[in-house]
Amino acid sequence: MGNNIVTVDNHKLQQEQIQQVRTPRRSTDYQQIALYKDVNPLDWEDWHWQVKHRICAKEELTQVIKITPPEEAGLRKAAGRLSLAITPYWATLMDAEDPACPLRRQAVPVADEFAVSPHEMVDPCAEDRDSPAPHLVHRYPDRVLLLATEHCAMYCRHCTRRRLVGDNEKEEINPAQRFDAAVEYIKSNRKIRDVLISGGDPLVLEDDEIENLLKKIRAISHVEFLRIGTRVPVTLPQRITEKLVNTLKKYSPLWISIHFNHPKEITKRCKIACDMLSDSGIPLGSQTVLLKGINDRPYIMKKLMHELLQIRVRPYYIYQCDPVRGTQHFRTPVATGINIMEKLRGHTSGYAVPVYVIDGPGGGGKIPVGPNYILSQAKGKYVLRNYKGKIYTYLE
Ligand SMILES: *Cc1c(COP(=O)(O)O)cnc(C)c1O
Repeated sequence: MGNNIVTVDNHKLQQEQIQQVRTPRRSTDYQQIALYKDVNPLDWEDWHWQVKHRICAKEELTQVIKITPPEEAGLRKAAGRLSLAITPYWATLMDAEDPACPLRRQAVPVADEFAVSPHEMVDPCAEDRDSPAPHLVHRYPDRVLLLATEHCAMYCRHCTRRRLVGDNEKEEINPAQRFDAAVEYIKSNRKIRDVLISGGDPLVLEDDEIENLLKKIRAISHVEFLRIGTRVPVTLPQRITEKLVNTLKKYSPLWISIHFNHPKEITKRCKIACDMLSDSGIPLGSQTVLLKGINDRPYIMKKLMHELLQIRVRPYYIYQCDPVRGTQHFRTPVATGINIMEKLRGHTSGYAVPVYVIDGPGGGGKIPVGPNYILSQAKGKYVLRNYKGKIYTYLE
């Protein structure tokens, strides 16, 4: 039945996925949204269909949410900067009435995005300065960051790489050769044992493009460890197909870090995508950006971490929101992050406690920040406090 409409990697699995999509844990059934009511479930499950039908203009967005004046102003200006792109999947998770909806705020631009506040920069982490070859950032001696694409399934309004990322960029002429210089650089630097492929979102590339890149990097004998940074399991879970998973699996050890910001992002559909990755032996970690009004309350962050463990994603980092231009409305004081860490450590499973970091402005790399547990330190003696504030002395 209808199996020939889309490329179905595994008919049975797909049927099961559709079944589960019909009974989502959180999310309205997509067919309840007028814009999507006639969409065939097999199309809905096809990631190319999702990408092709992304919301990229105000006219479509008005059919999904009730746009407020600040959003209206944001939409007017979004053209030419970090583009507007919202997958139909994500659109169904946004609250149509509430502009404070955490998913809506991450996807819909507001006027504040076009204000530049003190200390904000175009490239806060000085990645362009530390780039020895196109698409490559080399900051730490033993590992590099490879920016595999400028595109994402959805454009997050808090994006730290908004200087590079969006759908306005013109395509490069020679896609097959675009990483040649980066690969050569890694090849010629034997200290590099870890390659982090990010972007943009590398998983919006086609399967063969991903495979070509992984193959080239895997062929370098001193590269021990590959990782991918992505948001696709959250913004476009349909992209995690059996075919993709089988490709990724071949390049083990390959780890994946997934950008999650709010418990509402963990839907049944997202869980299926994460399960497929985990079941194929890919360890999953999370990266979360601390965002004002979205996840800056300790109970929300704790809930997110607990739900991540339930879908077998190990919390890895919480980032202080980088001082990138136009993100002031998302940024919290550092004390907010430290307080969240205080409320996690000791109060819940150690596995649910990520590391809170500030990416040192100007290119310092990730610097851990958190509560102080050392009250005093003298020769042979540490005075410590525990998570309850009780004091202990450790003698060396
Ligand atoms: C985040 C990052 C890495 C990886 O850092 P880890 O702490 O090892 O996860 C590597 N290079 C750059 C430039 C980065 O920003």
